[in-house]
Amino acid sequence: MGTSPLAARLEAVWQQQIDDGYLLGDPRGPVETRTAADPDTGVAFRFRWLPHRAVRGVAAVLAEHGIYDPGCEDQDLPVDRRDPAGRPCFLCAGMIRPCFPKEVLVPLQAGGRDWLAGANFAWLGRNHFTVASAAHEDQRYDPGVLAAMLDLHRDTGGAFRVVYNGAGAGSSIPWHLHLQMTTDPFPVEALAPGADARYPLPLRRFFDAGEADAAVGAWHGRDPSHRVNLMVAGPGGAPVIHLFYRDSRRPASAELGAMASFEACGDMVFDDPARREAFEQADLAMVRRALADITPRLGDAAAAGA
Ligand SMILES: [Zn+2]
Repeated sequence: MGTSPLAARLEAVWQQQIDDGYLLGDPRGPVETRTAADPDTGVAFRFRWLPHRAVRGVAAVLAEHGIYDPGCEDQDLPVDRRDPAGRPCFLCAGMIRPCFPKEVLVPLQAGGRDWLAGANFAWLGRNHFTVASAAHEDQRYDPGVLAAMLDLHRDTGGAFRVVYNGAGAGSSIPWHLHLQMTTDPFPVEALAPGADARYPLPLRRFFDAGEADAAVGAWHGRDPSHRVNLMVAGPGGAPVIHLFYRDSRRPASAELGAMASFEACGDMVFDDPARREAFEQADLAMVRRALADITPRLGDAAAAGA
């Protein structure tokens, strides 16, 4: 099975960004990983120690690494007025080009939109890209979002998993539409057939885009706080759409903080040096508690058919 042209292009950009010194940490080395097997579902939940991420928001450290150019702050950068901190939108190309001059932006078309993919310098996995809409538009689900995820999955021959975090369900920037992609398989991909209801976070898997889109619409329609995490994986010609039911009133867990698609898919990320012990002690019971913390109130999910 050959590599698709898009997967090859993205993997080449990833290598180039490593060579450029644009990625934090050691993206070539092994990631320190622990797992906890869940006999109920066949899933081995994963704990990843990614301490390079602890400095991702520290401009001075990023400048030291040559990732961020503070000189950009003298320029007129795009700002969304709703950001209470008044920061520039770091998913807009008008911010990325002057502030992150080493970042290679790959133009893509998917689901009827134009996008720009860039390697995530605070990577969570191999070939981890953020794919932002070319236009500055809200992180809001529409059928074109799912269509774009499916296009990107197909165009990479299934090599890249594609995720979407609803605003208030792990999305860091609610006013700029974005997806993420990685070639690392997610733990949830090992979920046994027919075991959706046993997964410790409300989940349904779909093999048909129309059915998945209808289920997302039904969930969003039931309550204005309802959100979703979506993940597309599987063979290039036979995508599996994972729909995780979320609620913006429950964005975080006590032990892991804000939880997004990676955590929903079974990848628990630890990046705070002060939390090393928590990483070393993490187990299946902790995963179940964390996913219970972000589970929508009982009744809602069941009523939606989760
Ligand atoms: Zn923007």
